[in-house]
Amino acid sequence: MEHGLPLTDLTGLVYYIETFGCQMNENDSERIAGVLDAAGARRAGSPEESRLVVVNTCAVREKSEEKLYSYLGRLRALKKSRGLVIAVAGCVAQLQRDGLLKRRPFVDLVVGPDNYHRLPEALASSLGSARVLTAWSRGWDEEARRPMIRQSSVSAYVTIMEGCDNFCAYCVVPFTRGREKFRPLRAVLEEVEALARAGYREVQFLGQNVNVYRDPETGARFPDLLVRTVAVPGPEWIRFITSHPRTFGPEMARTMALSPKICRQLHLPLQAGSTSVLERMQRGYSRREYLETVRVLRAAMPDIHLSTDIIVGFPGETEEEFEETLSALNEIRFSNIFSFRFSPRPRTAAARLPDDVPLEVKRRRLAEVQALQKTIQTEIHQTFVGRTVRVLGTGHSRKDAAVFSGRSEGYQVVNFRAPEDALGRFAQVRITGYGPYSLRGDALELEAAPPGSVDSRP
Ligand code: SAM
Ligand code: SF4
Repeated sequence: MEHGLPLTDLTGLVYYIETFGCQMNENDSERIAGVLDAAGARRAGSPEESRLVVVNTCAVREKSEEKLYSYLGRLRALKKSRGLVIAVAGCVAQLQRDGLLKRRPFVDLVVGPDNYHRLPEALASSLGSARVLTAWSRGWDEEARRPMIRQSSVSAYVTIMEGCDNFCAYCVVPFTRGREKFRPLRAVLEEVEALARAGYREVQFLGQNVNVYRDPETGARFPDLLVRTVAVPGPEWIRFITSHPRTFGPEMARTMALSPKICRQLHLPLQAGSTSVLERMQRGYSRREYLETVRVLRAAMPDIHLSTDIIVGFPGETEEEFEETLSALNEIRFSNIFSFRFSPRPRTAAARLPDDVPLEVKRRRLAEVQALQKTIQTEIHQTFVGRTVRVLGTGHSRKDAAVFSGRSEGYQVVNFRAPEDALGRFAQVRITGYGPYSLRGDALELEAAPPGSVDSRP
């Protein structure tokens, strides 16, 4: 049993996974697929073809939770007609626990992120009878996290830490993912080496707050992890998400600048442009400090592309405070943003504050943020026209075999034409057109594919 899991036989079970939420959930779904396949189950392309549906959920905003309930309504109809088994996994499972079964009694299994390795056991012993598996594991359990079936054969997510100790006033994550726990560096490097052998071109490290990474065995920190990863021959692009501005010091900027393998791209959630709002959010940095971090980053890497998260309508946000978010966007000029209306989440500090920004004001502020960002992004994209950029081909068009999609080093989506198969290869793409959300171009040259097959996934 090389994966170290109890082999509970699920031979013949056909399953489907629906994933909501962030990259960590996507990576967790790859774990769930690995666990189920190792037990003999087989993945299908739709709930209609399956006996088991696992819904991997996101609890970060009210809207994400509502998505789950409407999806469950759809599954309920299928359950009635063909006896589906429904498992709810992820952050809503961990947050609601047996409350979920009370609200939706037709759900069979509720399984939190620390319990995916127990899925076959729970399913085999009680297919159809309700169970709740939401125990926390205190430390990092490496054995419980293997094997994995990856969606991409080009770019791989590698989770290096989980949980969060920051308790930002609006955020439910510390209650769904628990306290910070770190994966041993040894295990991270083993995974990167296996990915390199399988021909992966890009590695994306994941964690709620990767900057605070500390190897539980040696005490090595995140910059050490990056330096050690750079030394592994193979993957040519390294990215990481998420960095918290409070713990992103000058050493991180220096480490990024050390190697061209570390992409000149960073997601650094600002949340709000006003220091008073940031204080109420308990973010631990001011507007001035955030701007200083941006200055340090751009001094070390002038071509870096920054992206961010913005929340509008946090309790008590005045018009003047909101204007400071707009002015921060104008000043920093992010290459991409993810923007949200504040919604109160259970157990968080902000849920105890009056949610006093009216819905129509939140909507208007969100529209203003998005309209401004669209203009900024369009202007940034315009500067690419006529330039040749290196793009990693990660997908291709279903309609036209000569059209591929990929990402630039700055993480722009690039759709391009190529004379031969560009999947899993780096291409030099001449940019000929743009929209606010993507670039278009033609591949002038394709770099050689790496030794080893991109189809042999670890
Ligand atoms: N760990 C990251 C960080 O420090 O920002 C990401 C956390 S969360 C998964 C992703 C984003 O969701 C946050 O950055 C924030 O902008 C948004 N978010 C979290 N809670 C929210 C809430 N209650 N209402 C609206 N947006 C929220
Ligand atoms: Fe949530 Fe803040 Fe932790 Fe990010 S740092 S996961 S926003 S509590």
